[in-house]
Amino acid sequence: MNVSDTEIVNSILMEDGMEPVNEPEDAEVIFVNTCSIRDNAEERVWNRLKEFKALKREKDGDLTVGVLGCMAERIRDKIMEKEELVDLVVGPDAYRDLPKLLADVDDGRKAVNVLLSLEETYADIKPVRRNDNGVSAFVTIMRGCDNMCAFCVVPFTRGRERSRDAESIIDELEQLSNQGYREVTLLGQNVNSYDDGEHSFADLMYKASQVDPEMRIRFSSPHPKDFPEELLQIISEQPNLCNYIHIPAQSGNNAVLERMRRPYTREQYLDLVEKMREIIPGVTLSTDIISGFCDETEEEHKDTLSLMAKVKYDLAYMFSYSERGRTLAERKYEDNVPEEVKKRRLSEIIEQQMNIQEELNNEEIGRRHLVLVEGTSKRSDEQLCGRTDTNKMVVFDRPDHIGKGDYVEVTISDCTSATLMGDFIKKSSIKEFSQEKVAV
Ligand code: SAH
Ligand code: SF4
Repeated sequence: MNVSDTEIVNSILMEDGMEPVNEPEDAEVIFVNTCSIRDNAEERVWNRLKEFKALKREKDGDLTVGVLGCMAERIRDKIMEKEELVDLVVGPDAYRDLPKLLADVDDGRKAVNVLLSLEETYADIKPVRRNDNGVSAFVTIMRGCDNMCAFCVVPFTRGRERSRDAESIIDELEQLSNQGYREVTLLGQNVNSYDDGEHSFADLMYKASQVDPEMRIRFSSPHPKDFPEELLQIISEQPNLCNYIHIPAQSGNNAVLERMRRPYTREQYLDLVEKMREIIPGVTLSTDIISGFCDETEEEHKDTLSLMAKVKYDLAYMFSYSERGRTLAERKYEDNVPEEVKKRRLSEIIEQQMNIQEELNNEEIGRRHLVLVEGTSKRSDEQLCGRTDTNKMVVFDRPDHIGKGDYVEVTISDCTSATLMGDFIKKSSIKEFSQEKVAV
């Protein structure tokens, strides 16, 4: 989401006559786009700001430093007064105000706008994508969150839920397709709660699938409460809607889920998983897990392990609980699971997950996949990498005349817990591959 927001900020600043540079040393203005979701995200930002303070000294003060995003809203006073690290603080709904705020800084004032909006979706702003691979792009379709999970700071830093109109999204997808992008990830804090007044998320996904049959569509991050059967059917039927779904569980225990204020039980969650696998055969699943939430007992932790063992996720984002100011958990519960217990539980969760991933990846050996080439592999220029429809990274030897943005068919030959190795078969397309699948 921050990558996508930065692309919006690029656009606003370049429209105002500014030019991007590649090195901090060459900049007159530096913005740090920040995240508040966990304490270590914030720690990283503080360290970065200290580096920029040193740079500012080297440049005799001829450098403006600004904080954008979620941290801006949360700790503006600390940032502005105590630390004296920053000249300007701008929250996620106030980016249109940046040129004016920069002018205030030029006039010798500190500048702040952290107002949250009920309407802002930046729908009319054409993001300037400077750092992507030219193959995959992010498109933000909704912003904010109304769910108020007990542990989460997002509703406080990003405000209420609002959706961008479908027409502007489809226009952007058409432009991306014309520019040669082959994959788009639709983004939102609760992306599948999308509702622009006329279209549901299922409607939007269908429309998105029709823009360019050779452009893959993914989405992130959805919430388990908004997966009607209609949506799963559409994903199953349209070959360019990827068969990969992220369903954040957070915990596998009902009492913890209730304390977290997640609106489902373990049983309902498992029913949803079953329904997804029934309607979308071969779908891969990933999740988010928090270990050591307030009052979590050893038994409750074991329920999370058992949920994960039962579902067998292809991928999981696993965190230890980090208390955030203003959240319900901070006000109502005690952050009473000792740090070393949280860490130990987290390692148990990670270890089990790595074993499951390796087991699932081993089952991939011998299977044929359609891979969208994203570029050369990190290890060697002689190898290419890209993802399957099911979101698994595949590395394979570079054949002649194949490059970024091509679809290729590969047979999986080997794996680790994180990556699949493949043998190139032929250049292909979504259409060709899905017809072959039907024929099989
Ligand atoms: N809207 C999505 C999640 C977005 S936040 C959903 O509700 O499913 C991304 C992930 O960060 C969350 O799923 C959660 O696992 C993690 N997270 C959020 N707040 C956290 C906290 N206080 N401590 C640890 N992890 C947290
Ligand atoms: Fe945070 Fe997601 Fe819950 Fe919203 S739904 S409060 S973003 S965890």
